[in-house]
Order: sequence, then C-alpha cells, then structure tokens
Amino acid sequence: MIFSGTVALLENRDLGHDNFLAVLDAPEVGQSMEPAQFVMVRAGEGTDPLLGRPYSVARIGEGPNGVTIQLIYKVVGRGTGIMAGLRAGAELSVVGPLGQPFPLPEDPQVPVFLVAGGIGIAPFPFLSARLLAAGCHPRLLYGARSSGDLVGRDLFPPGIEMEVATDDGSGGHAGFVTELLDRHLAALDTRTRQRAMAYVCGPTPMMAAADAVLARHESRGHLSLEAFMGCGFGVCLSCVVPLVGQETGYARICVDGPTFPAGSIDWHRSQSP
Ligand SMILES: Cc1cc2nc3c(=O)[nH]c(=O)nc-3n(C[C@H](O)[C@H](O)[C@H](O)COP(=O)(O)OP(=O)(O)OC[C@H]3O[C@@H](n4cnc5c(N)ncnc54)[C@H](O)[C@@H]3O)c2cc1C
Repeated sequence: MIFSGTVALLENRDLGHDNFLAVLDAPEVGQSMEPAQFVMVRAGEGTDPLLGRPYSVARIGEGPNGVTIQLIYKVVGRGTGIMAGLRAGAELSVVGPLGQPFPLPEDPQVPVFLVAGGIGIAPFPFLSARLLAAGCHPRLLYGARSSGDLVGRDLFPPGIEMEVATDDGSGGHAGFVTELLDRHLAALDTRTRQRAMAYVCGPTPMMAAADAVLARHESRGHLSLEAFMGCGFGVCLSCVVPLVGQETGYARICVDGPTFPAGSIDWHRSQSP
C-alpha cells in the first residue's frame, strides 16, 4: 500500500558537511518499507519546489505514533536546501514506499559487502539491520572524498564491520572504495567469491566501477541507482536507464529499480550523450 499525504518532521539533525538526518513521523510508510525502497518528499510550500525529491529510507525507528522513517540527506540544491532549513514540527508531503527493495541473500553464510559512496550510505543502516536479523554478517566498505564526508556511521546497528576509504587519504584507505571491494573479493577462494554478495549505492561512476569489479570476480551483487526523478511512479520517464543486451531496452529506475542486479546496466550507453 503506497501512502500519499502529509507527515510531521520530528527532528532534523545536522550531521556536518551539509548532511542531515531527518526523522519523520510516518507509521503508514515505515511499517511496510523495505531496504532501498524510497520516498518522494516535497518540503516546500505551494509550488516551490513543484516536484518531490527521492530519498532512501536509512532507518526505521520508534516514534510517538509507532514508527518513524529516518532519511540521511545531503544538501545539493533547492529541494534539499529547503529541507535543511526546516525545524521539528514542520509538515512534509510524502509518497511511499516506492521502488524495488534489495533482495536478501538466500544463504546467510555467504560473505556480504555493503559498498557505499558518499551519500550512497543512506540505504545501508536499514539494510544492515535486516541482514543482521537474517543471520548475515555484513561488512561495510564506505568511501567518500574526505573523512568529514563519512557521515552516519553511528546510525548503523552494532555488529557491522566497517572499513573506510577517502579520495584525499584523510581517513582509511587512500583511494576508491571499489579498490577495497576488489581486495576483499580477490582474497576469497573461487567458490566463496562466486557466492559472495555485494550491495552497492553511490555516484554513477562508482557504481559502474563496482559493477566491473563484481563481473571480474564473477561475484553477485545488487546496485541501487540514482537519477533525476520527476514523478517516482513510472509515468514521466525522466529516470530511464539502458539495460545490457537490449539495443533499445530501458528500465525506469523509479519502478523497475532503484535496485538492479549487477551486470544488468549498460554503462556505456547510459553515459553516452
Ligand atoms: C532512488 C533514489 C534515492 C535517493 N536517496 C537519497 C538519499 O537518501 N539521500 C540523499 O541525499 N539523496 C538521495 N537521492 C538523491 C536526491 O534525490 C537528490 O540529491 C535530490 O533530488 C536533489 O534535489 P535538490 O532540489 O536539492 O537539487 P536540484 O536543485 O534538483 O539539483 C542540484 C544539483 O544536484 C544534482 N542532482 C540532483 N539530483 C541528482 C541525482 N539524483 N543524482 C545526481 N545528481 C543530482 C543536479 O545536477 C544539480 O547539480 C536519491 C535519489 C534517488 C533516485
């Protein structure tokens, strides 16, 4: 059941470096939400902004009316900027849950990697909670430009192993987070590597690189893609992505995704003008 209506903002916490945690009193959304599904949120008054913006749900929490949804977001423009200026008690228009969730591994014993780039960390606290509940032992590989951009690590449930990478070398591995994934997969024997599962979310070039690493190691994975999104429910076609092996085939990230199996996106066509 997709909720569409107004919800109250309970908290809007500054996480530093233009990142925030918004806690929304949204039991109708939270009770049926699955990891990597998203909500369309419109934070402004009247017609500014006209369209909602998509956000993954980072955590499901407890609230005055049962369940809260918690969003980690980075201010990049008008919609996120308006949201950052809101105080507790503000009302937001929310539609969700939308999109296809990350499927969990059938076998909890396989190695599980969560590969996050920047604000791509957003769906992973929620996914981690579900994986731990299913008996999996996920390891978070988290990359960002600089150590100050590695936000939200305290939002993860206890029991998650974490490694970080920074482009400028200010924290953890100096280099791309996909190099950590490559290193971990290379250290596994062939059979274990082929059964390993990676969940990836981040900027498009990082996801294309992670997809290539998974293909090289013949490992499995699911990617949660980002795109400009107008409606969020499959009508406006602003978020299409080309699929491998289908010369003219496109999927809509909002309804067919945002999660796609590793190896299914035609990165060459998606990056062509
Ligand atoms: C399924 C999904 C889940 C998402 N989850 C989150 C989340 O949990 N937290 C979060 O912070 N963001 C998330 N995003 C991205 C977020 O929706 C955009 O950052 C937001 O829409 C920007 O709105 P704005 O009005 O602030 O920026 P705009 O004024 O619309 O744009 C400002 C700048 O950001 C760039 N931009 C805008 N949207 C995107 C995008 N989707 N990808 C790349 N660049 C973009 C534009 O090129 C422009 O330079 C998600 C996107 C999708 C598709």
